[in-house]
Amino acid sequence: MLRPNLHYSELKDSYLFYNISKKVGAFLEEHPGERILRLGIGDVSLPLCGAVIKALHGAVDDQAYKSTFHGYMPECGAPFLRTAIGEHYRKRGINVSDGEVFVSSGASDELGDILDLFDRESAALITEPAYPAYVDANVMAGRRIVHLPSGEKDGFLPDPPGDGGADLIYICSPNNPTGAVYGREQLKRWVDHANKIGSVIIFDAAYEAFIEDPLLPRSIFEIDGAETCAVEICSLSKTAGFTGTRLGYTVIPEALVRCGMSLNSMWVRNRTTKTNGVSYIIQKGAAAVFTDEGQRQIRENIGVYKKNARVLTGALDRLGIWYCGGKNAPYVWMKCPGGMDSWSFFDFLLNEGRIVGTPGAGFGRCGEGYFRLSSFGSPEDTEEAAERMMRLLK
Ligand code: PLP
Repeated sequence: MLRPNLHYSELKDSYLFYNISKKVGAFLEEHPGERILRLGIGDVSLPLCGAVIKALHGAVDDQAYKSTFHGYMPECGAPFLRTAIGEHYRKRGINVSDGEVFVSSGASDELGDILDLFDRESAALITEPAYPAYVDANVMAGRRIVHLPSGEKDGFLPDPPGDGGADLIYICSPNNPTGAVYGREQLKRWVDHANKIGSVIIFDAAYEAFIEDPLLPRSIFEIDGAETCAVEICSLSKTAGFTGTRLGYTVIPEALVRCGMSLNSMWVRNRTTKTNGVSYIIQKGAAAVFTDEGQRQIRENIGVYKKNARVLTGALDRLGIWYCGGKNAPYVWMKCPGGMDSWSFFDFLLNEGRIVGTPGAGFGRCGEGYFRLSSFGSPEDTEEAAERMMRLLK
């Protein structure tokens, strides 16, 4: 009999968002019509910007005429978009060639697919609290997982472990869920560590556009030596509201070689085998993000979310509650008051404040006792939630 991939049976139930919606559903059944303020969402609430919409419409029209119609697109990305993304790096002084940029349908797809490049016997080190997909994708592949917890002491930014290590290293900065962002020196320690032991860093830069402090690195390739030990996975989901439109990109340096094999060439081989490229229409829309007009417009939207984050951190400052994130990231990671555990605080906020957030325990064991607030909601809801929290927690 065919044996399925038995590693699927080792997956823990993904109960976090399921549990949240179950609890909210039960609350609404008991309190019909109550207005609930949702600070738990990881999805954006603002629409695509004008430059993107115009480009999407133009691309749809292109598909109507023989002279401008496009069929299959190049598997690794349309040259116009690879160049636009490459330029986006080069304008910031980061040396990335067009051939090192791969266009994808989103970071989630890549975070799973990229594991094809690595031996299943290799181990994955995951800095926690972490985006749950890192763990699950590696469990599915049967890979050994090393959990590296972090906490208030290190500002939720752990340093490389002193002993041993792992073959794959996951770093997300700005981090989901903590909003913590690695500084240059700390990232350099990770890069040196990876180069020393021959690991590869999977650097998730999905929230790079939220960094406003010019001293903080927005790409791991701002760090010397990263080109021989890192892959960067990025997305337009939060940068430009592409959660439902779907587009991401991955940078694999040509200098990244393990056992004499170029990871860049292997990825070309992988993509040309396993994909037929991303939609021409969506790639045209994505290219508009990288124009001057597109950049100005997405900055306006990001500015709205950042203002929401300031409203939330302002309330926590006044309440004297410990938190990190919220400045260079869309997430605020707060300590649950009164020593409450994450789910008790969830219940308290829902029942007493009609506010929904995300319990930190859902992102790894060291997230227990913490809580994630998202700035992706509407300014009105965020203001009201901050006021309700002020009343409840003072
Ligand atoms: N990486 C992180 C850290 C995320 O938080 C998310 C989405 O929430 C993703 C990747 C997935 O992004 P995409 O929408 O491009 O699949």
